[in-house]
Amino acid sequence: MAQFGPSPHVATILASYNCSAACKHCCFDSRPGIKQRLSLEEIKKFILSASSFPSMRLIVFSGGECFLLGRDLDRGVDYARSLGLMTRCVSNAYWASTLEKAKRRLNTLYDAGLGELNVSTGDYHQSFVKEDNIINAAEAAISIGISSMVIVVELQKERRVTASTVSSNPRLVNLLADEEFAKKLKIIESPWMPNSHDEIIGQSPGLLLNRSTVMQRRGCDSILTTLVATPQPNKIGICCGLSLERFPEVNIDWKEGQSLQDLYDQCAQDFIKIWLYVDGPERILAWAGSIDSSINWEKRYAHHCHACLAVFNDSKTLTVIREHYHERVDDVLLRYAVMSRHSRDNLKRSRAIGRGPGVCVALPAVGPVPVRASPAKLSYTGEGRPRS
Ligand code: SF4
Ligand code: SF4
Repeated sequence: MAQFGPSPHVATILASYNCSAACKHCCFDSRPGIKQRLSLEEIKKFILSASSFPSMRLIVFSGGECFLLGRDLDRGVDYARSLGLMTRCVSNAYWASTLEKAKRRLNTLYDAGLGELNVSTGDYHQSFVKEDNIINAAEAAISIGISSMVIVVELQKERRVTASTVSSNPRLVNLLADEEFAKKLKIIESPWMPNSHDEIIGQSPGLLLNRSTVMQRRGCDSILTTLVATPQPNKIGICCGLSLERFPEVNIDWKEGQSLQDLYDQCAQDFIKIWLYVDGPERILAWAGSIDSSINWEKRYAHHCHACLAVFNDSKTLTVIREHYHERVDDVLLRYAVMSRHSRDNLKRSRAIGRGPGVCVALPAVGPVPVRASPAKLSYTGEGRPRS
């Protein structure tokens, strides 16, 4: 196993892209009726392989809609818990049409060891799943003892549903009056992005990548720290990006008999992945634009996975990368060495927390920065995680 560089601490399971909804711009083109899925045995095999990394902490069940896996979701959560791993489910909450139904469904998952529930909402989601479901899910999760609950709201310029409108929902206002409830709930916003680098979704100018905001953008904290099981048993994602399925650089063949650790070690030697980890797609794009001024990179991208789509799908950017990447190797690898030293120190510290069955502590490198559930404090997070 590689002794140098970041280590994977999250394993995400996209067992199927089947979904109860069919939101416009869904990153995985999820919709009802998709049959392909991993079997329970394949899910367990991936969890077991992921658990062989000493750094592994968290198993995330996402999709598609992971609750459509039925009892296999409970079995997967239970299996992860039996290996001492924390668990999170990401869902659209279609199953929470009443508070009673939500409690019934979550009770068995809680018994299986579910530590965190994330539910997604916004203008597109609410064409299929009502806001009431989201509130039912949050109320049920917290009342039965699930320790962490997150509501993720689509972010775009023109919209009806915002984190602020959700937290002003009269039912949620009542629930948030309870200090213990408020402590367990986070509401965050994440930019909604299209599935092609040519397409644009309107965002406030301040959120868009340009030459004055590029220095605020950071390296990708998902690549090389997350392993993803996709509905194809022989394909592993090396980040949990929303554009995961749209370029081969982050999708790796998992060969029969190959260990997940071997596969990871191979990836960790690939310069483009290291570059994404160190600089992130926005700075790579800006650098390419400084060499070929006809590359159209400014005022287009709010989500870093949208910028990543441009890095790998825009022919001019790819040409610059092929012809000039060697000019960046020394600088990137030097900074990689420094960052790796820090990430090993962080790992040692996180080991002190230990692996507690059913316990879900906040992991600093995972997902967006939380926005507390107070309308006065709502702000843009700039990051994203797998949609549901
Ligand atoms: S920016 Fe998104 S798509 Fe690109 S490597 Fe990071 S998580 Fe993956
Ligand atoms: S965005 Fe989420 S809820 Fe909507 S179709 Fe995609 S996976 Fe389903």
